[in-house]
Amino acid sequence: MTNANVMEKPQTIELFEELESQVRSYIRSFPTVFTKAKGYRLWDEAGKEYIDFFAGAGSLNYGHNHPVLKQKVIDYMMEDGVVHSLDMATKAKAEFLKRFEQIILKPRGMDHKIMFPGPTGTNSVEAALKIARKVTGRDTIMCFTNAFHGMTMGSLSITGNAMKREGAGVALHNSVFMPYDGYFGEEVDTVDYIDAMLQDNGSGVDKPAAIIFETVQGEGGINVSSYEWMKRIEQLCRRHDILLIVDDVQMGCGRTGTFFSFEKAGIEPDIICMSKSIGGFGLPFAITLLRPELDIWKPGEHNGTFRGNNLSFVAAAEALSFWADTKLTEKIDRQAEQIQETLESVAKAYPKLKGSARGRGFIQGIAFEAGSAADEISAEAFKRGLIMETSGVESQVLKVMPPLTIDDKGLNEGLELLRQSVKAVHDRLDG
Ligand SMILES: *Cc1c(COP(=O)(O)O)cnc(C)c1O
Repeated sequence: MTNANVMEKPQTIELFEELESQVRSYIRSFPTVFTKAKGYRLWDEAGKEYIDFFAGAGSLNYGHNHPVLKQKVIDYMMEDGVVHSLDMATKAKAEFLKRFEQIILKPRGMDHKIMFPGPTGTNSVEAALKIARKVTGRDTIMCFTNAFHGMTMGSLSITGNAMKREGAGVALHNSVFMPYDGYFGEEVDTVDYIDAMLQDNGSGVDKPAAIIFETVQGEGGINVSSYEWMKRIEQLCRRHDILLIVDDVQMGCGRTGTFFSFEKAGIEPDIICMSKSIGGFGLPFAITLLRPELDIWKPGEHNGTFRGNNLSFVAAAEALSFWADTKLTEKIDRQAEQIQETLESVAKAYPKLKGSARGRGFIQGIAFEAGSAADEISAEAFKRGLIMETSGVESQVLKVMPPLTIDDKGLNEGLELLRQSVKAVHDRLDG
């Protein structure tokens, strides 16, 4: 089936410009044709090597082509294991459910039901919103400034970014935005503000079905909420009889150090959304966790053709082994400290860019006050062989999110390339 002509000729980026829709996005920041990936590294067709500090926006927490996960998927295919089964019972699905209960839920004293929505993060969020409305009979969802929850209608209605919201083409309803932790600076306690709005019958704010938040806003500019803030949001939910949803699509699966990103806050969300790295190998997969009493779906009420893909089940079940002990968490904590120290010292060493370090665990970055600094640094890094994205509504934050499995050598090399890239942009500025 391979076409010799196509295979021989290197693909140029122009091919994508000619054939692929304008909607393409990351390809614009990293304009090359990638051919191979392993661990924290990628190669393009010119043979140039890149260190991956983006990790599929958090979909590749265990790196590219992890050998153990890959072997499991290969073995399953060689046995003619069922690949597509709608949501029928398979051995692969049973194995995932069992291991998720044993390794994740039980040790944390959780008894959430595991729901398989369609295989993307936004599907998990849509399912969460639907069930919260169905259970409470209320229509509003309370969400936060700079939140990102996905690109389908329900998720967009609770996403802050104006450009993304406009893409909907219709008015987005049934959501109410509140200030995230730190939105008005350290002095303003936003939980007190929300509480006042909910208590006052004159505030115009209806009682919502649920409050949904990200523990760290990845797309929104690496805004970190404190553990205390999360705890107080939970208390507020209990006081007002509002469901609590944590969107752990990007921060879950260890991005901040623990399997769920809210563990250190000691909260117990009613609903938890997961996707991105839950599949382990980078295959599409999502789950929505529901407290058992919320699980009032009628059979098929949230249906879908790709709810649970068996190759993902196989890789996902194996990937849970990373969380059977505390080794990975300890490694993340240790290296996260190094990342933080490096980013702080880089921000200080190149003061003209007016950068400040921020983040938690393996989702860190530098927020720049100076114009397009983050984008320029990302472009410089790409030239030097480092893949690093930006985030925030003005693309003002340089985002550092290596695979959690990166070794010290890779981390040091990547951080050195980052430093050189920041210096290059800094040296270009006058004054
Ligand atoms: C990426 C992301 C989503 C959307 O996931 P998709 O798979 O792109 O639909 C939702 N919420 C958060 C927090 C995300 O980071």
